[in-house]
Amino acid sequence: MGYYIIGAIVALWFIGGVYRHLQGKNKVVHVVEGKCTGCKRCVTNVRKCKHNVLELVSDESGQHIVVKYPDKCTACGDCVSICKFNALELVKLTK
Ligand code: SF4
Ligand code: SF4
Repeated sequence: MGYYIIGAIVALWFIGGVYRHLQGKNKVVHVVEGKCTGCKRCVTNVRKCKHNVLELVSDESGQHIVVKYPDKCTACGDCVSICKFNALELVKLTK
């Protein structure tokens, strides 16, 4: 019985990965203007971006996230799902 449950979890994980890959095709992360609070969750959480695409910067408007290396973004969606302020989204590449 335990093997069936483990098998089902692995299958769901795999299907979820394929689904996210297809969803993310030709997309890139984008910061929604005015929504980032600078909470740092997307750059410090255990599920933070593994490709160091995002960077926290400080300027006259305070701390906020910028997309420093968009070319490295795989559009995996991890950062989007951990941002509690809906400040990150995946958008279609325009080039
Ligand atoms: S993008 Fe979201 S998770 Fe990242 S620092 Fe801004 S508010 Fe926090
Ligand atoms: S979508 Fe994935 S690769 Fe792109 S910035 Fe977010 S966590 Fe990094």
